[in-house]
Order: sequence, then structure tokens, then C-alpha cells
Amino acid sequence: MLFDTDVIVVGAGPAGSLAAYILATQGIQVTLLEKTRFPRYKVCGGGLTHKILKEIPFDLTPVIESTIHSFRFSHQFEHVFTRNSTEPLIYCTMRGDLDAFLLQKAADAGATISMGEKVTSFLQDESGVTVSTQEKTFRSRMLIGAEGASGIVSRTTGLQDSVEMGLAWEAEVNADPEDLMRFSGTVFLDWGTLPGGYAWVFPKKDHFSIGVGGPARLSKAMMPYYERFMTSIGNTSLQSSILNSPSSILHPPSSNIRFGETRSLKSWPIPVRTRKSAFHKGFVMVTGDSAGLGDPLTGEGIYYAVRSGKLAAETCSEYLSGRIPSLETFSQRINDELMTELLEANRIKHVFNTVPIRIHSFVRDSDRAWKAFGKILRGERWYADVRNGFGKWKIFWRLACFVSGFIERRKETKFLKRQTAEIK
Ligand SMILES: Cc1cc2nc3c(=O)[nH]c(=O)nc-3n(C[C@H](O)[C@H](O)[C@H](O)COP(=O)(O)OP(=O)(O)OC[C@H]3O[C@@H](n4cnc5c(N)ncnc54)[C@H](O)[C@@H]3O)c2cc1C
Repeated sequence: MLFDTDVIVVGAGPAGSLAAYILATQGIQVTLLEKTRFPRYKVCGGGLTHKILKEIPFDLTPVIESTIHSFRFSHQFEHVFTRNSTEPLIYCTMRGDLDAFLLQKAADAGATISMGEKVTSFLQDESGVTVSTQEKTFRSRMLIGAEGASGIVSRTTGLQDSVEMGLAWEAEVNADPEDLMRFSGTVFLDWGTLPGGYAWVFPKKDHFSIGVGGPARLSKAMMPYYERFMTSIGNTSLQSSILNSPSSILHPPSSNIRFGETRSLKSWPIPVRTRKSAFHKGFVMVTGDSAGLGDPLTGEGIYYAVRSGKLAAETCSEYLSGRIPSLETFSQRINDELMTELLEANRIKHVFNTVPIRIHSFVRDSDRAWKAFGKILRGERWYADVRNGFGKWKIFWRLACFVSGFIERRKETKFLKRQTAEIK
């Protein structure tokens, strides 16, 4: 049977557009199908850790709204301190703009883009894949699922096992222009309040993106948490900490934000894979949120979407040129590189959630801890380095992670029971 194209990509998020861009630059025929029409609003903080920039083969400056050099931490809305970095840590974007920009790059490189094209089903046979949308049918040699948490590709191929759901709420909030200017380089982060979750403020060009996230089973606690977080950063009752370190600053009460109108308060899942498994089946590969590649510790997903999109494109290219016999290599690469890292993130999460106040104080008091945090965001160190830092005591770190996993789960269950009792 004739093919319409070599590769079909489902979804024009960061995973899909990067995959389409890489394929098109290599002269491979690629068709990207996206169910919405851009520009569209996307529920997301739009925070890009510095390590993403190393993965994107073009300049993202046109969509960067602010550059983060500082974090203002609080633990249960208290014990507030700020840490500064000379190096940029995060770049804030609006996801609608970022996605439209990446898609345009793919189109400029030669990818065929079809918008308003919702994939409803697909079928594999011995030579390729037939993809149906609401109105058309396409035939290709390979399919890359980049459809995000909606998961039609991963669900249909049975590649969604051992995925746990996180959930996050976010809104775009106007604020006093003076406050916007003052905090244009600062992320606010409250942790230790919701087990396994946190709240954040990302400064954008003309407003703040503010959200909370955590395990989906604690979803009922998220809106109350969001409201308390807003109150804590919008009033003057915060308790501040004085630090001796040169990279930290004291907060006068006036360092809170005067908020204006709130827009687009919405929630969306964050899928998190809990063990190594298959990421391909026959001629189909899954990437980004479709593959459950959300960071269990931070909820970060754009880096893993971009990285897995690139790996999928490289695998297609190698397969088409006959250098590899199957797409098995893709699953191996995702497991070796990304899953190794994400499983380590999960272990660190267990420890963090067992003793959040201690980690909070550690980041505040130890320059080494703060620098390590920055290096992980910048892609100069990896979660796996935390384990390796224990050298011959690695086994004790593993044991601590294992035990913390149980304690974390118990804390979550207790929290859930308390919350249910309060509702009754
Ligand atoms: C509130 C919130 C805040 C977040 N903040 C951050 C952050 O600051 N930094 C970060 O790194 N991560 C963040 N994340 C996670 C991040 O948003 C995701 O991990 C990331 O978007 C995954 O990219 P993706 O390309 O895999 O999928 P998506 O970005 O979800 O893209 C999927 C695309 O596929 C399309 N699609 C879906 N179904 C079909 C279909 N049947 N046919 C055709 N097209 C389809 C969708 O319309 C969409 O355009 C956040 C998540 C949430 C919920």
C-alpha cells in the first residue's frame, strides 16, 4: 500500500513539534496532525528549565517573557527566604506562544501541518500505520504519539501501564505593574503544605501565572490550597528569615504582591510513569505526556517532551535508513536516559515529602544545596548525581528512599482522611 508520508505525528505540543522539526530538517516526510487551531490557550506554567535550551536547536528569545535568577521559598506559607543565582535558572513563556513558535519552526523546516485534525483511531499492520481523523485517513510508515495527557495513542497501543496521575491548577493573574517589575526575575514556591505537591508563581511580561499541583488523589485539597497561597503572598503577614549567606535576601512585608483580575483558572493532569517499560509497539512510539514522562518531583514535563520527541525523530531516521531493524532502540533510550532520571526524581520526592521542613532549611542554610538545585535546573547535574554523591554509602540512600516511600504514602493517606472528614 502506498504511503502518504513517512511519519505521522499526533499533537503539536513541544514533543510533537520538535519531533516534526527534526524529521523535516533531515529531509524525512512528516505530517503533524493537531486537533485544535493555534493560537490556543494551554494550561501550563510555561517555565522552561535552562537545560531545555541545550535541546532546542534554535533561539527561543522571541517567546521568553522573563528570566528567573531568584527563588522565593516558603514552607507552609512561612519561613520565607529568597535565594539568588548569577546564572539564569528558568525562562518563563506563555505556552500558547511557545507552542505556536515551535510549530512554525517545524513548518518552516518542511513539515506538513494539518490543524483542526483530531485523530480518532489508528490501525497497525505489517508495513505501517493507517490513521483516521474525524474526516480523513492517512497512511504512514511510523506514528509518533505526542498527544499529551489525553493519551489516545498510548491508550490504544496499551503503552499506558504504570502511569500515575498528578494534577495541577493554574490561573493567569493580573497585578500591580510595580510588583510585576519587582518580581520579574523571581519564582515564588511554597512546599510542605500539600503532601507531594507545591504552589508556584511564575512572572510573565504583563501578569503572573499562579498554580498548585500534586497527586491527583489529593485534588479536593488543591483549590483551598491555592486560595491560602494567594492570601499568603498577597498580604503582609509572612514570617521572614534573615540569612547570612550573600546569595540570600531578607523580605520586608512590602515584598508581597497586589493582585488584580484572575483569568483562565483551569486544571489539567500530569501523567507520571512509575517504572521502566515499553515506549513503542510495532511502528508506534509515544513521547512526552503521552508516554507519562512528567517529573514526579517538580511536575516539569516540557524538557522530557522535547527530549523524547527528539529521540523519537532520531529513531525514525535510523530506522528509515536501515541502521536499526526495529523501533526497540527508542524504548531502550527512553528507559536508559529519561526513566533512570525520573525514577531517581521519584526517590528524592519520597525523602523530601518525609522531611520537607528539613530540606527547606537545608536549601536556606547550605550554599552547596542551593547550588546543586540550580545545577539540576541548568542541566549541569542530574538527579542521579544525588545518589552518586553518597559514594560507597549509596545503599543507605536507597534504603532511606525506600522507607520514605512508605512514610510519604501514609502521610498522603492521613491527609486524605482528614480532608474527607472535614468535607463531611
Ligand atoms: C498547570 C500545569 C502547569 C505546568 N507547568 C509546567 C512548567 O512550568 N514547566 C514544564 O516543564 N511543565 C509544566 N507542566 C507540564 C507540561 O505542561 C506538559 O508536560 C507538556 O505540555 C507536555 O508536552 P507534550 O508535547 O507531551 O503534550 P501537550 O503539550 O499536552 O501537547 C499535546 C497536543 O496534542 C493535541 N492533541 C491531543 N489529542 C489529540 C488528538 N486526538 N488528535 C490530534 N491532536 C491531539 C493537543 O491539542 C495538544 O496541542 C505543567 C502542567 C500543568 C497541568
